[in-house]
Amino acid sequence: MISNFFQTPIDYLKGVGPSRADLLKKELGIHTFQDLLNLFPNRYLDRTQYYKIDQLQKTNTEVQIIGNIIHINTVQQKRGKRLVAIFQDESGKMELVWFRAHKWIKDNLILGESYVIFGKVNWYNGIYSMPHPEMELQTEHEKSLRSAMQPIYPSTEKLVSKGITNRVINNLMEQLFLESKNSFSETLSKPLLEQLKLLTKSDALFNVYFPKNLKLLARAQYRLKFEELFYIQLQLLRKNLLHKAKIKGYPFTKVGHFFNTFFNEYLPFELTNAQKRVIKEIRNDLGSKAQMNRLLQGDVGSGKTIVALMSMLIAIDNGFQACLMAPTEILSVQHFNRLKLLCNNLNISISLLTGSTNTSSRKKIHKSLENGELQILIGTHALLEDTVKFKNLGFAVIDEQHRFGVAQRSKLWHKNDYPPHVLVMTATPIPRTLAMSVYGDLDISIIDELPPGRKEVKTVHRYDSNRLKVFRFIKDEISKGRQVYIVYPLIQESEALDYKDLMDGYESISREFQLPDYQISIVHGKMKSKDKEFEMDRFKKGETQIMVATTVIEVGVDIPNASVMIIESAERFGLSQLHQLRGRVGRGADQSYCILMTSHKLTFDARTRLETMVKTSDGFEIAEVDLRLRGPGDLMGTQQSGVLNLRIADIIKDHEILKLARSYALEILKNDPSLSLPENLPIKNTYIQLTKYKNIWNYIS
Ligand code: ADP
Ligand code: MG
Repeated sequence: MISNFFQTPIDYLKGVGPSRADLLKKELGIHTFQDLLNLFPNRYLDRTQYYKIDQLQKTNTEVQIIGNIIHINTVQQKRGKRLVAIFQDESGKMELVWFRAHKWIKDNLILGESYVIFGKVNWYNGIYSMPHPEMELQTEHEKSLRSAMQPIYPSTEKLVSKGITNRVINNLMEQLFLESKNSFSETLSKPLLEQLKLLTKSDALFNVYFPKNLKLLARAQYRLKFEELFYIQLQLLRKNLLHKAKIKGYPFTKVGHFFNTFFNEYLPFELTNAQKRVIKEIRNDLGSKAQMNRLLQGDVGSGKTIVALMSMLIAIDNGFQACLMAPTEILSVQHFNRLKLLCNNLNISISLLTGSTNTSSRKKIHKSLENGELQILIGTHALLEDTVKFKNLGFAVIDEQHRFGVAQRSKLWHKNDYPPHVLVMTATPIPRTLAMSVYGDLDISIIDELPPGRKEVKTVHRYDSNRLKVFRFIKDEISKGRQVYIVYPLIQESEALDYKDLMDGYESISREFQLPDYQISIVHGKMKSKDKEFEMDRFKKGETQIMVATTVIEVGVDIPNASVMIIESAERFGLSQLHQLRGRVGRGADQSYCILMTSHKLTFDARTRLETMVKTSDGFEIAEVDLRLRGPGDLMGTQQSGVLNLRIADIIKDHEILKLARSYALEILKNDPSLSLPENLPIKNTYIQLTKYKNIWNYIS
């Protein structure tokens, strides 16, 4: 009954009518009573606070002022007319401006009467003005002042211009509460309410829309944020548990000869604590009967490879094969060489399979894969070809996850009875909060510690006008035997222009760094991959000192002698890209440098990005700033934005509530996986409702 009431189309609310209903649907996505109930205020205004005109500032958003109108007239302008009133209080004068509904306003305003006006102020032509103010006679205003905190609802230009002002929404909300007779059913369990001292659902809703005071408002918001995050986490965690219950994996019960020998005799360095912790997490997963599906996040250079290798050794110890897939040929070769070296004394058979593997080696690989002789296969997408058949693939590592689609990942799975355990490694840190919300159904391991002795890359920001100094610096470094990257942006939308920039840059660098003293390589997306590799190889061998490139070098290239990274038009790169690029240097023993070149014209966001890069090299910190600048939707791409489309909670600011909600959701599911305990009934009912009416909360994906 109750839930049906809230599913009533919004058209049926008193005061709405067909045209308003249409607008509410189109502009705010409000179709039902429930949708209106989920239109949480963006913020609140203290309606007992009044500004004086001489206190106004250009940065003010909405303000409230008491004063009176001393003059009204119509001003002719290029397109149509505008109505301008002079409004004054004892401290000064300002203008009120209307572009529409002149007659109605002119006829209804009373000169000399005391009004309370409310709206945004602009600084225009040397005077403050307020377009389309909400106005109330002061006497009326005082009568209607129910609550000091005035909710400000999300709105659009169109709504305001059609007369659906904040006050109208407020009235609709009042009407809704009146009609619902406060019949909001409780959505959280008693123990939760008690343990967390949460307001009840009705109290919380009431105080969010009609706050009695600041303290109650804060508690109301807290309760509703908790609830929102709680149900997201509940859903994600349930998916995860179901996955674990349903998808079986091979249990790797022992850690044996290969792992132990490697660990005791051939480990080339002491593992960091973070590496040890992650290996333990993986070992635990592998020992269970469920299939592991784990995301390993760690900054560039944090040492993910060794973790991957040691996990693969566990698979081999248990009689299974393992594979490692990388997004490019260069990276696959690099992995292959490194792993081969590490396993040198272990007597393990490792092969490399890429697009350029010749037919006869290919045949050999296929054969030894099928008969189980080959233990580790490393390669590119070539691993996914139908002809590649493992005897018993038990463990798959995927490096640099973002280059692979999910479909490709699941292709690997289908090579066997049970899917192999999967470890996805990424060097693009995702802020913890975001990861918890988006990948709540994946298990996540984090390496948040760099191996000791790593020198931080010195990062500076230089303007284009200082280019000559930068060139001198480059020459100094080259004379010490170092190598230099110079990177240009390449953005799809302006590809042609970017390409020209790159070529112009290349030319001017060639003029500055002339043969025979200097050799320059260039690599960009329009080149054939053979030519690219040839140039990369020259640079790698030290035959060229400067590598001019677009962002193709972004992923994983490891050239320890390259110690200077110059990023041209750095203001055009996103933070994570800048961070990835910087990660290309600082891999050898020498002090490395990253120079961010920009013009003088910088937006606020661009400046923040540059300052962040100069200030920190912590990938997670950088990811947090990125999240703040770009918002969660942009950061994760659109496919997950449904999950992130929060109604009241804020994924960045409400981090603590999120963690709490997650831990409670986990606790409840652990004790009562099917939510059948009587005390969890409200949770079960709400959960069912949420999945039934998908439009109620759009976070249910
Ligand atoms: P990632 O793949 O995470 O970017 P790598 O696995 O390539 O990082 O490791 C970067 C470098 O650090 C490699 O040269 C590796 O040998 C080295 N390394 C990894 N772990 C450690 C450690 N615990 N102590 C010292 N060096 C390490
Ligand atoms: Mg790596």
